[in-house]
Amino acid sequence: MEHFDIIIVGGGPIGIACGLEAKKNGLSYIIIEKGTIVNSLFNYPVNMQFFSSSDLLEIDHIPFISNEAKPKRNEALEYYRRIVTSNELKINLFEQVETVNKVDTGFVIVTDKQKYNASNVIIATGFYDIPNLLNIPGEKLDKVSHYYKDPHFYASQKLAVIGGSNSAIDAALECYRKGAEVTLIIREPEVGQRVKYWVRPDIINRIEEGSIKAYFNSNVTEILPDKIKVHTPQGTIEIPNDFVLALTGYRPNFTFLEKVGIQLSEDEKRLPQYNQDTMETNIEGLYLAGVICGGMETHKWFIENSRIHAPMIINAIKAKK
Ligand code: FAD
Repeated sequence: MEHFDIIIVGGGPIGIACGLEAKKNGLSYIIIEKGTIVNSLFNYPVNMQFFSSSDLLEIDHIPFISNEAKPKRNEALEYYRRIVTSNELKINLFEQVETVNKVDTGFVIVTDKQKYNASNVIIATGFYDIPNLLNIPGEKLDKVSHYYKDPHFYASQKLAVIGGSNSAIDAALECYRKGAEVTLIIREPEVGQRVKYWVRPDIINRIEEGSIKAYFNSNVTEILPDKIKVHTPQGTIEIPNDFVLALTGYRPNFTFLEKVGIQLSEDEKRLPQYNQDTMETNIEGLYLAGVICGGMETHKWFIENSRIHAPMIINAIKAKK
């Protein structure tokens, strides 16, 4: 079995940044990614526009040129893919890491295809693979999705969008503009304050003029093939419905982190334990990078402020050597 200085789990923007940094510093490494390059970004809505300007999404100061100040998903795919290919980064795609075991010589990493040995492991697995479930009857019906892709699909359909943050509001506006009859169901009393500052007035105006129907302080209690039941402050109502987009956020794979042995805080935030200077966890040689560091606080870390994790970790590993 080949031995690596570093195995990086996850080929998102931050895993790629770690690979690039390792390569620049002459460390042997491999990135293992269960999907395609930047798999989470690939699965974002097709028309998605980042809230960050492109310079803030750059890795290692490699220029990210986009048509507008804030790039679109497609431009980000071009950018991160070109970083991987033009730097000939070592990345094994469509291979899933199942366990990471600490042994005397470092770590044994077991994937669905093979085993690896490494002195250090960086976990950069993000949070986009596991949706926060509603846990209500009907959630498993085919018409319900926790991921939104393309508004065309919902044209001329009765669409319920659950959630009041960026993903839900973007989906509601786009689908309304492609001819869907959109109803928003929001648990809170208002549209989320973190909704992009240029989008928030748009949704508020659409709700006020009645183009998009919105129920605040409300929860969907049951999804049926042709309707949904919604608990509102005025009582439970039934709304005719064809499709449901439950965009209520995502969470890191805590089961994987616990299996690996990383300590999580016992409160509802489930914050993983790590050293804020080196990103090393409670397990020596095992590091965390990227948005996974925020536990349930998935808004805390993003590409902009977590790309710095790559040089921090590689410097810490080099210092140990
Ligand atoms: P990810 O990109 O999620 O990468 C993790 C990777 O790990 C994935 O490719 C996944 O397939 C892989 N993986 C998971 N488990 C395994 C396993 N067991 N084995 C192998 N591979 C595995 N941030 C910004 O800075 N600016 C923005 O404008 C912005 N907009 C956003 C818009 C949306 C809709 C969302 C959801 C997020 C946005 N973010 C933004 C946040 C940020 O873009 C993402 O969270 C970003 O993808 C984080 O990068 P990451 O590398 O930490 O994680």
